[in-house]
Amino acid sequence: MRPPPALSHGARATADLLTQFGLHPDKSLGQHFLVDPNQVERIVRLSGVTNGDHVVEVGPGLGALTAGLVEAGTTVVAVEIDAGLVTALEAQFSKQDVRVVHADALTADWNSIAPDAHRWAMVANLPYNVATPLVLDVLDGVPQIDHLLVMVQHEVAERLAAAAGSPNYGLPSVKVAYWGSAELVARVPRSVFLPQPRVESALVSIRRDPNFARTEPIDEVYLLARTAFAQRRKMVRRSLRSLVDHDMLDRAGISPDERPERIDVDAWCRLAAERRAARDV
Ligand code: SAM
Repeated sequence: MRPPPALSHGARATADLLTQFGLHPDKSLGQHFLVDPNQVERIVRLSGVTNGDHVVEVGPGLGALTAGLVEAGTTVVAVEIDAGLVTALEAQFSKQDVRVVHADALTADWNSIAPDAHRWAMVANLPYNVATPLVLDVLDGVPQIDHLLVMVQHEVAERLAAAAGSPNYGLPSVKVAYWGSAELVARVPRSVFLPQPRVESALVSIRRDPNFARTEPIDEVYLLARTAFAQRRKMVRRSLRSLVDHDMLDRAGISPDERPERIDVDAWCRLAAERRAARDV
């Protein structure tokens, strides 16, 4: 096993940093800090980022993962919502290739955080309450981020990576599959955090399709999927009757008796195309 990164924080160093900066973990912000340097090393390794890569880290906290990313030779932009943590980060990383941005990642200006002059990866231990909307917003609106390796609640990782027909398949799965593909790459035990969360975590890797060629806009595809999933147990001929008719379903190759959890993203796109064609005549 490789040695843990020299800069990273164990439980003792984390407790010391909290004391030094007069901080207390704020659970409402999902503050569960990684205190196992081996997990940090594992996240960096699984992300595949390497010397010279540009990385966005959302929620750097006290900088445990940031330190691992620095060790790997990447340029890091670290977006943190908590002013106290921003102070602690700036003190630790003032001499490293790290830009700390004090912002809410859900409303941040991504073009200034991750300028599209580069390709970017997002590597982050995400706060539980913002993980799904953040990942989906980034996929929709920040094309220069082409790979994400993020730690999320285990159930969220399963939903993001679920294939049509699986019990975890839902709206987030459709959106991820629209842009690329996702894989749950590792489980992470609760014991590696301070304080320990109540739920298990997992690492999910999401890659944009480099040959992306979908022609139907995501909003049109999403409208159909969202409407159908809002009444998940109903057949689509009923849940979608205000949006599409029998013929459109037929031409899209979707049985009117189908339920949304069995309809893959290609079929949702075909249905959006049929709806557009019907509007255009
Ligand atoms: N990366 C650190 C680690 O692994 O030890 C901390 C991860 S902790 C699970 C989540 C971090 O996200 C916290 O530092 C929290 O303050 C920050 N955070 C929560 N909501 C945020 C938001 N909307 N935008 C940016 N950071 C946020």
